[in-house]
Amino acid sequence: MKFSGHTLFNNTPVEITIADNRVQSIREVTAADTNILIAPAPIDIQVNGFAGFDLNVATVTPEDVRAMVRALWRVGTGFLCPTVVTGSFGGICNAFRAIVEACKTDALVAHAVLGIHLEGPYISAEDGPRGAHPLEHVRDPDWDEFQQWQDITEGKIAIVTLAPEKKGAIPFIEKLVANGIVVALGHTNASADDIQAAIDAGAKLSTHLGNGAHARIQRHPNYIWEQLGADELWASLIVDGHHLPPSVAKSMIRAKTLDRCILVSDAVALAGMEPGTYQFAGKSVELTEERCVRLVGTEYLAGSAIELARGIENSVRFAGISLKEAVSLATRQPMHLLDAKAQVESETNLILFEWNAGKYKINLIATIVGSELVYHTETPQ
Ligand SMILES: [Zn+2]
Repeated sequence: MKFSGHTLFNNTPVEITIADNRVQSIREVTAADTNILIAPAPIDIQVNGFAGFDLNVATVTPEDVRAMVRALWRVGTGFLCPTVVTGSFGGICNAFRAIVEACKTDALVAHAVLGIHLEGPYISAEDGPRGAHPLEHVRDPDWDEFQQWQDITEGKIAIVTLAPEKKGAIPFIEKLVANGIVVALGHTNASADDIQAAIDAGAKLSTHLGNGAHARIQRHPNYIWEQLGADELWASLIVDGHHLPPSVAKSMIRAKTLDRCILVSDAVALAGMEPGTYQFAGKSVELTEERCVRLVGTEYLAGSAIELARGIENSVRFAGISLKEAVSLATRQPMHLLDAKAQVESETNLILFEWNAGKYKINLIATIVGSELVYHTETPQ
């Protein structure tokens, strides 16, 4: 089987030869007479679930993790940080064990997991900033507890999202940073001083900036502007059209600049499912026709139901950036944030797709992860 197309970043015509489901060669050719574009496989640093699989339920198994990762490949997400949210000590242990076991028993899944994202439980207890995280499990940072988790994951926790105003958060951030972990601010009600102290301690990222926030806040100053204006902080953004209105997504991308923006799906298990009302994370949530997930009877969003590729499309549409720039927000930028160049480039990891510029639509043709063809449509060239 052969695919030919142009590399997105360099516009080089190439031919990819696949045999036994593996990449045999990638060579430059004089011309490629297809519209296929070839880009690095996207990296999603915030995935809570997908296609009915949920990392944050007590029953999660290694098989669920493997199935979730493979489902993501079918929509063009090559790499991920499985994201475990606020829960009991034991519940979080359980999720970590499932992820670690999935990696041990499936080399390709291990290749795709660039690290685990722990979002919570050291976050704001306030309604709004807490989002859909369960109040009873929100707590102050605890280094001993964290170390037990990091032991279970065998050092795989790569990102911790926390609220810097929590008691003991600043020395906790310093220890995380000293251990090579990316510290992200999120689900926070921080003051400007808290945010500056976190930056001074080495915090690097704002998690889904503009979300995990009060529905109504003082126009300025507030914790969104403070983070938006801090050049030291990168920002992850959920560009699904619901979490951030188009004008906000555009403004944030411009304020942060392309170098410091990262697209995330923040997908929950409902991503890939039919609209309706579901029980999710112990709460009733509604998945609308527009792929919006809300706590029933509130205006609070409870995770997203998009694929990362939709975030790329929407970024082009909302922010007026090029396709190349939008893909970079889901490939190069997260790779640099995680310092994962060695793992990402150790094998061939690509997506092949056609771009419908009029409709802002990525039509995925194939996904290659770990030099293996893990997904393709029925009509390769
Ligand atoms: Zn969140």
